[in-house]
Amino acid sequence: MTTAVYPGSFDPFTNGHLDVARRAARLFDRLVIGIYATPDKKLMFDLDERVALACVAVASLPNVEVRSYHGLTVELAREVGAQVMVRGLRVSADFEFEFDLAMMTHKLSPDLEMLCLMASPQYQFLSASLLKEVARLGGNVDDWVPSGVAEAVKKKVENV
Ligand code: ADP
Repeated sequence: MTTAVYPGSFDPFTNGHLDVARRAARLFDRLVIGIYATPDKKLMFDLDERVALACVAVASLPNVEVRSYHGLTVELAREVGAQVMVRGLRVSADFEFEFDLAMMTHKLSPDLEMLCLMASPQYQFLSASLLKEVARLGGNVDDWVPSGVAEAVKKKVENV
């Protein structure tokens, strides 16, 4: 059985993340989305909220599960028995960071292979941070996130 882990902040889970998860779920028997508890980022959603939103977004994908984690991603991979770590790659934004991450991951866990899926053309420009900024400024983000997430973003923005 092949297991892959797809780690990230997922603050919140976007249609770009969902696209990568769907495609990875076709490649592996089991995909574990790992939601990192304490990313070095200004968060809109706490850990439980990020997990809940991701769970709703992937509810129709039977071989996908969602877990939170605190430590190293390689430890999460070890815990869930993953052979592969999946990441998404947008052409303009991600290469250098993901390349460094792949090198570090290889150093920490030589048997864990990192696989980057190219972002689909319609999601190349989409980042969770950009959509949070648009939402805070009153823009509509419905086309960029699963419907449950859109509701949650609206509530957050209204309550600030
Ligand atoms: P991190 O803080 O670890 O970068 P993110 O939640 O921002 O976590 O992203 C998780 C992964 O999903 C990263 O590999 C990122 O490059 C990828 N990703 C983010 N947005 C998109 C998108 N629109 N299309 C494809 N992959 C994406």
